[in-house]
Amino acid sequence: FQDEVSLTQMDVESLWHPMVQHKKYERTPPKRMDKANGCYVTDSEGKEYLDGVSGLWCVNVGYGRTELADAAREQLVELSYFPLVMSHSPAIKLAAKLLELLQFEGKVHFSNSGSEANETAFKMARQYHAQTEGSRRYKIISRYRAYHGNTMGALSATAQAERRAKYEPLVPGFLHVHPPYCYRCPFGKTYGSCNIECASSIENTVIHEGAETVAAIIVEPVISGGGVIVPPDEYLPMLREICDRYGILLIFDEVVSGFGRLGKMFGHQVWGVKPDMITLAKGITSGYLPLSATVTQQHIFEAFLDESDPTSHFRHINTYGGNPASTALSLKNIEIIETEQLPEQAAKMGAYLRAELATLEDHPYVGDIRSKGMLLGIELVADKETKEPLPGNKVGAIVSYCLEQGVIIGRNGSTVPGLSNVLIIAPPLILTKADADLIVAKLKEALNSQI
Ligand code: PMP
Repeated sequence: FQDEVSLTQMDVESLWHPMVQHKKYERTPPKRMDKANGCYVTDSEGKEYLDGVSGLWCVNVGYGRTELADAAREQLVELSYFPLVMSHSPAIKLAAKLLELLQFEGKVHFSNSGSEANETAFKMARQYHAQTEGSRRYKIISRYRAYHGNTMGALSATAQAERRAKYEPLVPGFLHVHPPYCYRCPFGKTYGSCNIECASSIENTVIHEGAETVAAIIVEPVISGGGVIVPPDEYLPMLREICDRYGILLIFDEVVSGFGRLGKMFGHQVWGVKPDMITLAKGITSGYLPLSATVTQQHIFEAFLDESDPTSHFRHINTYGGNPASTALSLKNIEIIETEQLPEQAAKMGAYLRAELATLEDHPYVGDIRSKGMLLGIELVADKETKEPLPGNKVGAIVSYCLEQGVIIGRNGSTVPGLSNVLIIAPPLILTKADADLIVAKLKEALNSQI
């Protein structure tokens, strides 16, 4: 109920906002965004920005899709709410649609955020083993640099020390292993002669921990917010084999990679590896409404059906998970992704962007460029020989320059020196060539402005 005048005068000081808290914004104060259309957002002063990060890598179909607003509105009028302990049409239809797209025989469990979808997967994994083996397999393995969410379990899987430090002790039983980070191989190897040690070392961890204690391994197909770490092609199939050998569940966190971003509808399809569970969020509604899903293979669901054991069902209730408006909107969102062939579009335009970014390879700060589909990362270094990371203030200045020039570029979210030097580009999948050229041009200027 603020009128226009007071809204214009209002700044973001009343919000619990990290930039306000730390007064990090001497150069570029936080913007108040008022509207958006396509790949562009407009701030309260009418300035337009090309959104090179799709909000928070979620607005896959772009902004301002009135058909999505219509789908939600129509559903709210028809049936505004009912809990999923009963059911309703849009949730049923969406579950069926997701299974069809995933080519999964299984079940879909809805919640509201990526963090919750991962929490759900962890609880399911632990209970699955308890039901099937009567075992105490409880350990969950994730990789350093990965982000899996902000709730206590998802944060326990998030292997970024500074995000966790103030909340320790976290949930027991979460272990972390090295990611497939070829640019700075944690094993000092070079791809081609490394025998994919980043994967085989996970088998060692399993053996030394005792395979009978390990419930699941969770991976993003490509580590996104942790610095766009693209695995070598052998890596994910090797993880699948290790999991099969030791009866461990493989969970793919596809919160970012789902719904077209990596050039296929789902990230695991890029490598043809079938997980036991998949978690989905963000792109499931293109960020228009909160929704997430934990999708399991059928054998996992069946472990919860022991009629002789009244405690066998999954004791996990979620008030808003799979609500009618979010699921109706998601169905329409998926229809757009399919009819506009956005995964193919992401592959095509991602390849174009990658090729254009190659023109930056000679720049003294550009250490490594990594990409899969429309998820691209540029690792910045102060020295190409030593690979010393570019200091945070310089990386910040590059991001700020782009913002001032009307292009929003992301960055891996860490304050730890050496862990915040990757620029991230993950635009809406409807990006045009002209938009891609603008991103590259502004990046070029920004990099040169810091020499
Ligand atoms: N997993 C990944 C890979 C993510 O990037 C995120 C969010 N950035 C999450 C999980 C958590 O999602 P949410 O913020 O919706 O809880």
